[in-house]
Amino acid sequence: MTVTWPDNLVPAFEVRRAVVPVVGSDKGFPVRRIYCIGRNYAAHAREMGADPDREPPFFFQKPTDAIQYVATGTTVDHPYPSLTKNFHYEAELVCVLDKGGKSVPVDKALDLVFGYAVGLDMTRRDLQRASGAEKKPWEIGKAFDHSAPIGPIFLVAQVGHPAEGVISLKVNGEIKQNANLNQMIWNVAEQISRLSEAFELFPGDVIYAGTPENVGPVVAGDTIEVHIDGFPELNLRIV
Ligand code: MN
Repeated sequence: MTVTWPDNLVPAFEVRRAVVPVVGSDKGFPVRRIYCIGRNYAAHAREMGADPDREPPFFFQKPTDAIQYVATGTTVDHPYPSLTKNFHYEAELVCVLDKGGKSVPVDKALDLVFGYAVGLDMTRRDLQRASGAEKKPWEIGKAFDHSAPIGPIFLVAQVGHPAEGVISLKVNGEIKQNANLNQMIWNVAEQISRLSEAFELFPGDVIYAGTPENVGPVVAGDTIEVHIDGFPELNLRIV
């Protein structure tokens, strides 16, 4: 990594870095940055008021410590965040990188991928919408504490590069989102390639690959179950 600050200074205190468990390994995946793609399924773009045919992909970030790890077979308490009255789920495939690059061509992009996980891009929808309407940054709507739940990481050797298969989400056992990974407007390789034109990518970078249509609200007491074919379910309880 190109370090542009003094690299010989001893830190005055330690700062915890998010590390996500990797299935079949005793070594975790250290998270460097969290990138998210916006409006990457046509029907979701339409429900957000955008035209899916004309818009190039766009990205935003969440802070690394927004990661909330959800172990398989557990239901993790997810705190209802402050300031919002319209707290939304977005079920997403998550792609994680163990190699980096700049301006990576699409046909080389998957070489950067370490593995995949099931995730949620939790969103304070009312604040996100207000920010957009006022031409303000999205931070408060997207980049808050615990806003990036993620399940364990599966290596490419275990799950391949999931390009099709059901991605679905239930609230209190009732199906809310139900789509197919093959409905992404920009596939994972294209996302990596585009992203690497804007930012140099590094090992540890994580990409939330977008949510399909029928996002919606949850309140305290609700349970969320996210399913992607080939992965175990991710379960949360809003508290
Ligand atoms: Mn999203």
